[in-house]
Amino acid sequence: MSNPNAKTYKILIIGGGASGLFLAANLDKNLQNSTAILEKNAQFGKKILASGGGRCNITNRHISFKNYLGDVEFIKQSVSKLKFSDVLNFFSELKFSEQKDSQFFCADSSKAVLNSLLKKLKECDLYPNSEVLEVQKDKDEFIITTQNAKFKAQNLIIASGGLSYKALGSSDIGYKIAQQFCLNVQKPLPALVGFTVQKDEFWFKHLSGVSLPVCLKFNEFEFNQDALFTHKGISGPAILNASLFWQKGQITLNFVPNFSIKKLENSKKQLSTLLPLPKRFTKEFLSSQNLLDKPYDSYNQVEKAKVLKLFSYSFAPAGNFGFERAEITKGGVKTDEILPNFQSKKEKGLFFIGEILDVSGMLGGYNLHFAFASAKILSEFLNAKFSKTSAF
Ligand SMILES: Cc1cc2nc3c(=O)[nH]c(=O)nc-3n(C[C@H](O)[C@H](O)[C@H](O)COP(=O)(O)OP(=O)(O)OC[C@H]3O[C@@H](n4cnc5c(N)ncnc54)[C@H](O)[C@@H]3O)c2cc1C
Repeated sequence: MSNPNAKTYKILIIGGGASGLFLAANLDKNLQNSTAILEKNAQFGKKILASGGGRCNITNRHISFKNYLGDVEFIKQSVSKLKFSDVLNFFSELKFSEQKDSQFFCADSSKAVLNSLLKKLKECDLYPNSEVLEVQKDKDEFIITTQNAKFKAQNLIIASGGLSYKALGSSDIGYKIAQQFCLNVQKPLPALVGFTVQKDEFWFKHLSGVSLPVCLKFNEFEFNQDALFTHKGISGPAILNASLFWQKGQITLNFVPNFSIKKLENSKKQLSTLLPLPKRFTKEFLSSQNLLDKPYDSYNQVEKAKVLKLFSYSFAPAGNFGFERAEITKGGVKTDEILPNFQSKKEKGLFFIGEILDVSGMLGGYNLHFAFASAKILSEFLNAKFSKTSAF
């Protein structure tokens, strides 16, 4: 099985995305000398480039386990080790602006974030166009096979991300490797993704492009953010966040969260004029309920009940837009299989960081932050491990 021509590294990272690059950038220089990153795409960090609408929402002032789905204790001990200010300090050559919901965006562009990371990797061997197809273990070494080469490594880091946005380079290699080494994987599902709708809500599709603040509720969850109507159904921050937790069943939208029902009464104005809603929305809503645009008091009781649906519109989404439009993948390698230093409990030298793990953040910089936090913790472990071994 052993291949004498395979190049050997102390550390080999599968995936040149946020977590893989951040890990390598935080390794001591002498360790970087024996580190390789294998990346499927011709370009490293394609998802970083696409993130935050090209401006990379890199972290959030309010990083907390409460903004994640996954094992609370595992998330707590991981995200507490990297503060939002640590991320900003790491990228100190760049300017970030704090925006709505305490999100930090790069004042320049995602490209500047990626370039800043790549600049810190001068000692590493970077292999673009190197899709990993297979991994094997021979005694204490991993043997990694790409389309055109073989590598050996003492430590193998899986930083291959989830299944979302195939165009940006996703693959299922990380889950396959986990299963090969007998680690349990929570079924990967699309998350931070829009909802498709059933027939009764097809009127949403006529509103493609309209965005409005809503209050979205289901079970114990409540999101007060914007919803965006699209030609496929409904999206926008409130929906994307809900998609992290929603599995099936009804959700309820208040389309006028900042408007009191009492204001409807004793007004001579037509609803489309009275309500603080885009006229296009009100007209489409009324038409979906077979109602004319009139002052509230001129509707009969049955019609009034229909109008009040604006404050509490319940429907069951048909599903979601799927992996192709999902910002992240929820599920993944179960964290009860993983030590606090991100090593597999079952396989020494095998590590998992970033989105491949069963840790999913809400919208707002939480996912990049977790990718960075997991990478930072692992870099500290590896730096310490190799500084000890080189002392002897
Ligand atoms: C459109 C979009 C916008 C986003 N915006 C934000 C945002 O603003 N803020 C935020 O916090 N999060 C955002 N996210 C989520 C965030 O980008 C990810 O959670 C984060 O990049 C995960 O980092 P990762 O290193 O685990 O995986 P990735 O960044 O996905 O990196 C994995 C890398 O592995 C490579 N790879 C996969 N399979 C193989 C293989 N077989 N061989 C070799 N290489 C392989 C991939 O090509 C990829 O480069 C966004 C996601 C999308 C899709």
